[in-house]
Amino acid sequence: MPVHQFDGIIVGAGGAGLMAALQASGSARIAVLSKLYPTRSHTGTAQGGIGAALGNLEEDRWEWHMFDTVKGGDYLVDQDAAEIMCREAVETVYELEHMGLPFSRTPEGKIAQRPFGGHTKEFGKAPVKRSCYAADRTGHMILQTLYQQCIRQGVTFFDEYHVVDLLVNQGAACGVVALQIATGELHTFHAKAVLFATGGYGRIYKITSNALTLTGDGMGVAFRRGIPLEDMEFFQFHPTGIYKMGILITEAARGEGGILRNKSGERFMERYTPTLKDLAPRDMVSRAIYKEVREGRGIDGKDYVHLDLTHLDPKVIHEKLPDITDFVETYLGIDPTKRPIPIQPTAHYAMGGIPTNVQGEVVADEKNTVLAGLYAAGECACVSVHGANRLGTNSLVDIIVFGRRGGKALGEFVKRAPFVPLPEKPEAATAARIGRLQELLEAFELENLLDLALATVTGALAREESRGAHYREDFPKRDDAKWLRHSLGFLREGRVELRYKPVAITRFQPQERKY
Ligand SMILES: Cc1cc2nc3c(=O)[nH]c(=O)nc-3n(C[C@H](O)[C@H](O)[C@H](O)COP(=O)(O)OP(=O)(O)OC[C@H]3O[C@@H](n4cnc5c(N)ncnc54)[C@H](O)[C@@H]3O)c2cc1C
Repeated sequence: MPVHQFDGIIVGAGGAGLMAALQASGSARIAVLSKLYPTRSHTGTAQGGIGAALGNLEEDRWEWHMFDTVKGGDYLVDQDAAEIMCREAVETVYELEHMGLPFSRTPEGKIAQRPFGGHTKEFGKAPVKRSCYAADRTGHMILQTLYQQCIRQGVTFFDEYHVVDLLVNQGAACGVVALQIATGELHTFHAKAVLFATGGYGRIYKITSNALTLTGDGMGVAFRRGIPLEDMEFFQFHPTGIYKMGILITEAARGEGGILRNKSGERFMERYTPTLKDLAPRDMVSRAIYKEVREGRGIDGKDYVHLDLTHLDPKVIHEKLPDITDFVETYLGIDPTKRPIPIQPTAHYAMGGIPTNVQGEVVADEKNTVLAGLYAAGECACVSVHGANRLGTNSLVDIIVFGRRGGKALGEFVKRAPFVPLPEKPEAATAARIGRLQELLEAFELENLLDLALATVTGALAREESRGAHYREDFPKRDDAKWLRHSLGFLREGRVELRYKPVAITRFQPQERKY
């Protein structure tokens, strides 16, 4: 079986993986393994934008961004991490601009910014224009830009290699086992350090905005190697998925003035969140839609409502939301300038994941003990900047800021660390699993999904409160006395054992989350 050796292995070629590879590759030999061709990663579908307090159209400050992030996350956010993210968002967006990312522009040529759900000025006073965007193709542009830079920098890519195991020896991560999709051959990758950036796992749900490939592979692999998963009970539903399909209509559609209406044409969000209305955080809008539907105010009595853009200038729709117009026309045969769009909430984003510290190092228990040589960044990781609920545009910030930090830390680590030898027969465990399967890759993916669904459900049943995206009708209130803490699920003989650790609270004390 082929054995490859690199200083560092990055698993995943989305925004987090590419940014990490770019940062780490300055002085080290770095390989990126990706089951997809890099520019097909899910980051490429992000339409709405990337939040950063540039203040290009009106005054803005990173402290306000941090406050919104902490409040949006229902105070389960680790505030040290949120502070880093919101501060560094600004310089990182400029770094992307200097790499050549074609942002939309203001008339004076600055990076354009638009409002987005939950983003406010002066600690909650009014919406603020914070989301930097490249039309509705921000994620696509991030991927293209970073991929080009990685090629320029000489990063080695193993495209269409599906990672199926993490190798740990002498208490340190020392490589991965991957299946080359084209040949079915197993490859061992030996490295001083490994960074997982494998994205989310929305495919555990029936209606999801996530691509078919988002099966939580990095999380599943780590979980089965004894690494806990943090805050898995928090999964975000996005309010506006295309009815029955889950395909996302970006919040930017509401940012540009789109309105949600029930069967009588009422703008119902005015009743739920009078200040932010349609631009309230996603969990609140999603729950409001469920409530409208349950109380019989869905369109035609069915389980959906309307997203209405018909009052907007068609020019705005065509210029600022071209991909949305395309989707709606392709999948529904509807011209959104003339008819409202049928939508329902769709499973969108995993707040939980592989626990890390702010350097991207994986921490393997509730005492934050670092597992040497293992890093994680992006949606598969939980540095806990999103707490119980992520704000729109904050994932792109997260993947870029913490991809960058994780990549830098990994680059430094491999400069001083030796190679830990591979375990005996590193591929044996995988080879044995392969012997038992057909439909091989789907089986690997399904195994990940089942383990992650178990972690999600176990965490959710244990957490007897409602916080952020986690809502229980039997415990409808947030309970800070008991539950202002992170959960850590460990896989032990087919069951999930839960332990807990405290939330880092620095600047903002928990308050009621009202909008
Ligand atoms: C439709 C949609 C729209 C969104 N819009 C926005 C937005 O506007 N703003 C925002 O902030 N966030 C948005 N998000 C969320 C955000 O895009 C994602 O959370 C983020 O892009 C994840 O980036 P990532 O680098 O962690 O993972 P991804 O971009 O998902 O990349 C995962 C990578 O891991 C690789 N991989 C996975 N498993 C394996 C394996 N077993 N072996 C090898 N490689 C593997 C894949 O090939 C891929 O390269 C959106 C999400 C969706 C689904």
